[in-house]
Amino acid sequence: MSSAIDLHTHSTASDGTLTPGALVELAAARGVEVLALTDHDLTDGLDEAQQAALRCGIRLVPGVEISVSWRGGQTVHVVGLGIDPTHPELRAGLARLRDYRDWRAGEIARRLEKAGIPGALEGARRHARGGIVGRMHFGRFLIESGRARDMRAVFRRFLVRNRPGYVAGDWAALDEAVGWIRAAGGVAVLAHPFRYRLTATRLRELIDAFRSSGGAAIEVVSGHQQPSETAMGAELAERYALYASRGSDYHGPSESGPEPGQVAPLPPRCRPVTELLNG
Ligand code: AMP
Ligand code: MN
Ligand code: MN
Ligand code: MN
Repeated sequence: MSSAIDLHTHSTASDGTLTPGALVELAAARGVEVLALTDHDLTDGLDEAQQAALRCGIRLVPGVEISVSWRGGQTVHVVGLGIDPTHPELRAGLARLRDYRDWRAGEIARRLEKAGIPGALEGARRHARGGIVGRMHFGRFLIESGRARDMRAVFRRFLVRNRPGYVAGDWAALDEAVGWIRAAGGVAVLAHPFRYRLTATRLRELIDAFRSSGGAAIEVVSGHQQPSETAMGAELAERYALYASRGSDYHGPSESGPEPGQVAPLPPRCRPVTELLNG
């Protein structure tokens, strides 16, 4: 898979800061030829992205990044690539996650208010601009109101376990998320496997469960990881006979992390997940 491929990006439909059209234009300008838009738990940006892709002469892979609660407490992300966003089962599943997300936004704000930070729901909603409200939107509000210097500090101080704005995830089950993706004709990819900070044993158990559910690929190259992790990801892909994906997890020019397409190439032994995507 060449550097012209980026299979994990976000737009203003979820917690990115570029509109779907602007994201596609930037990716095309950076030399990306195959781009997946994978917003969190929704597909609303895909139509606009598809139109921009036609204009720019690049290929858009319709995608989504589904939030999963694994074994209760552990949040993991499963990317769906090549999905039909109109498929009823996928749509119903994502709608349920968005209802939970709406409730969670209110709950995060209530907890922050108790910790002496009022107005967080309004602040986060302003950043979400009518889209779904995620922790990044709370983060932008907390930074702008001077409560933290950057997004890392926001998460560390407010939005993770044992911090005032933390709400335990109650997302899809792993087999549900993979099932919705497959029902919609897509390929399920275990996103950024090293971001979860699991022990080696737990990570193997997660990958086993993911495969048993029908998952087909693992993100071997992701925007925020070390070269040593890429090597470990390639080993996992080989050991579990999974296809390999590659994505920047781009969230916008003001966010940290690499630009669209600007991540390491897949190690040579990997089987690129693009082999499973039609067209
Ligand atoms: P949510 O789905 O609303 O719980 O938000 C998850 C998103 O928050 C991820 O997709 C990242 O964009 C961002 N995120 C999670 N953890 C961190 C962190 N430690 N630092 C910065 N951003 C993070
Ligand atoms: Mn995000
Ligand atoms: Mn993710
Ligand atoms: Mn992502």
